[in-house]
Amino acid sequence: MIRIIGGGLAGSEAAWQAASRGVPVTIHEMRPLRTTQVHKTDQLAELVCSNSFRGDTLENAVGLLKAEMRELDSLVIRVADATRVPAGSALAVDRDRFARGITEALDAQSLVTICREEVPRIPDILNRRAPVIVATGPLTSESLSADIVSLVGQDNLYFYDAISPIVHADSIDYSAVFRASRQRRNPRGGGRTLHPREVGPESGEGDYLNCPMSEAEYLRFYDALIHAELAELHDFDRTPFFEGCLPIEVMAHRGIDTLRFGPMKPVGLTDPATGRQPYAVVQLRQDNLAADHYSLVGFQTQLKWGEQRHVLQLIPGLERAEFVRLGMIHRNTYVNAPTLLDQTWQTRAREGLFFAGQISGVEGYVESAASGLIAGLNAVALVRGAETSAPPRTTALGALAYYVSHADATNYQPTNVAFGLFPSLDKPPRGRQARRQALAQRALKDLATWRVAASIDAQTSPVVS
Ligand SMILES: Cc1cc2nc3c(=O)[nH]c(=O)nc-3n(C[C@H](O)[C@H](O)[C@H](O)COP(=O)(O)OP(=O)(O)OC[C@H]3O[C@@H](n4cnc5c(N)ncnc54)[C@H](O)[C@@H]3O)c2cc1C
Repeated sequence: MIRIIGGGLAGSEAAWQAASRGVPVTIHEMRPLRTTQVHKTDQLAELVCSNSFRGDTLENAVGLLKAEMRELDSLVIRVADATRVPAGSALAVDRDRFARGITEALDAQSLVTICREEVPRIPDILNRRAPVIVATGPLTSESLSADIVSLVGQDNLYFYDAISPIVHADSIDYSAVFRASRQRRNPRGGGRTLHPREVGPESGEGDYLNCPMSEAEYLRFYDALIHAELAELHDFDRTPFFEGCLPIEVMAHRGIDTLRFGPMKPVGLTDPATGRQPYAVVQLRQDNLAADHYSLVGFQTQLKWGEQRHVLQLIPGLERAEFVRLGMIHRNTYVNAPTLLDQTWQTRAREGLFFAGQISGVEGYVESAASGLIAGLNAVALVRGAETSAPPRTTALGALAYYVSHADATNYQPTNVAFGLFPSLDKPPRGRQARRQALAQRALKDLATWRVAASIDAQTSPVVS
């Protein structure tokens, strides 16, 4: 028997994969006896926010992930397809029909028992043939969170996502910024700062783009910041902040110079244009491999988005910045996955214990369900006394699992699936679209091969109406 804690996207998918392969499952779901700050119903797989499962073509990674999940008869994708509403090339659903469809499908499965109770501790695993999947999501209950801390350590369970704004590299004014790492002089001295695609971080010029501020510029920025309006907070966002990731506006309210001793510290940086240390500095760090996105270091903020744009465009070099994403802070419980999980979503330390869904360090509805799917298949393997197995890294399912189990643990960030996580093609065709199509074709072919090698059998599941 498999025990699954949490009947959200990941838990429901894992239960389906196991039960439709003939393995009995108990889902422990605390709602409606106890609810979270955002769930509203007692349905399994309730969508807490948007009703979109994002892109549904093979030209984006999440579309490919869905295609792979369809190949493995994902319940989540099957019901999403059945409850789809018009949304262009995206897959969006009628959220009530979706959650009802998942709940009814699992209710109708004779091998699935749904226990409405909060599980306060990770259950003991008596043997590998009785695995446990923890899929309690970003709003895992307090008592279980405390028990997870005792398993993974205080430093490896996070409770917030502090998201700094990200700008398009092409929208930065390079005549106003300089490239340097703190305490390292820009070896080329003054002159034009090159576009990041012209000069990579390995060039020795330093890893950061620095936006220098004079005293007058800093005071103007500071004044705008402390008078800007905050976004409306949900109850679940009212938890006190960690000192290590305070929003910039909170720091600003502590004193006029607090930011200059924090994320806007100029120490160790010399502006080649003046030959002097600036009064304050905002640092931009490359955010993706293509070097076309830069994030503002330490600039997590809860300002309203319109206000954020206005305040951030006062930073020299960012006057015409286009934002890929604006900053925010929200509750998100997740483990430092690379310290804990292998590619099958099983913990390295405790055989038979899996984490899946948002708590395992992925981001998004589809990714959460995908991790539940693979955890479910591997829990079935343990019950049957078979080998566990992960899809190859060339697939979307495998690329996500590889990231979660191998990313840099010192600065772990949950991720959506993205083509940047895939190994590159041996002979990439010209053009972005053609490259993506080739990646998708390779993925689907490799998934089919893996499925045979790992004996992932077809299911005998009833059809969902
Ligand atoms: C406010 C918010 C908004 C989000 N919006 C989006 C969005 O728009 N799009 C998107 O793709 N992703 C979004 N996410 C991220 C994420 O994809 C979803 O949270 C997704 O539901 C995660 O799936 P899951 O199965 O991991 O967790 P959930 O779907 O949250 O399921 C976890 C389940 O575990 C139960 N549970 C918790 N603790 C216990 C316990 N101790 N015992 C028993 N049961 C327990 C909960 O009641 C819940 O039903 C959002 C997250 C948050 C917090």
